[in-house]
Amino acid sequence: MNAHAASKRDPHIDAQGWLTDATRLPSPNFEARPDGAVPTLIVVHNISLPPDDFTTDAIAEFFLNTLDHDAHPYFDQLRGMRVSAHFVIRRDGEIRQFVSCDERAWHAGVSSFCGRERCNDFSIGIELEGSDRLPFEDAQYAALTRLARIIVKRYPIDAVAGHSDIAPGRKTDPGPHFDWQRLRHDSALPPSFFPFLSNI
Ligand SMILES: [Zn+2]
Repeated sequence: MNAHAASKRDPHIDAQGWLTDATRLPSPNFEARPDGAVPTLIVVHNISLPPDDFTTDAIAEFFLNTLDHDAHPYFDQLRGMRVSAHFVIRRDGEIRQFVSCDERAWHAGVSSFCGRERCNDFSIGIELEGSDRLPFEDAQYAALTRLARIIVKRYPIDAVAGHSDIAPGRKTDPGPHFDWQRLRHDSALPPSFFPFLSNI
C-alpha cells in the first residue's frame, strides 16, 4: 500500500468536518461558528441520562430532540432544551458524532476560557458517557486519545479543558474520576495544551 492510499484510509476528519469512522447521528442543534472562528479548544464533558445510567440511548435522543420526556422522571427537566456536542464516546468506546466540527455545537453554555467568553464559538465538545461518581472505562480513554489526536491534526487546537474549567461553579464535569494525567500522557499532546493541570 502506498502512502497516499494509507492516508486516505486512515480515520480522519473529512472536508465537511465529520470523522470518517464515527457513527454519524446529525443533530439539528447547531449553528454556524461566528465569522473567522476556528476551533482552538477541546472541551471534555461527562453526561449520562438518567444520571449514572449507562443502559439507555437517551443521550442520543436528547441531542436529536427525540427524547421521550415522560420515559423517566429526570427527563422532565430537559423539556424544551436544545443541546448537542460534536462527539459522544460511549462506555464501550464507540465514537458518535452529532455535529460537524466546522459548526458551533451547544455544549458549553455560559463559559470563559483565558478571558474569552462563549467557548462554543471556538471549541469542539466531547462528551464521555459517564458521571462525576463513577470511573470511566479504558475503552473511553483510548477513544478520547485517538479522537483528540485526529482533531489536532486537522484544526489549530492549542488547549484541552474540562467543562468545569470553563464554567467553574456552574459545572462539575468531567468530574473527579476523569484522569487528566492519563489523557495528557496517552495523547502525547504538549503540556501547554493542559493549562488547568498542575505539576506537569
Ligand atoms: Zn458538560
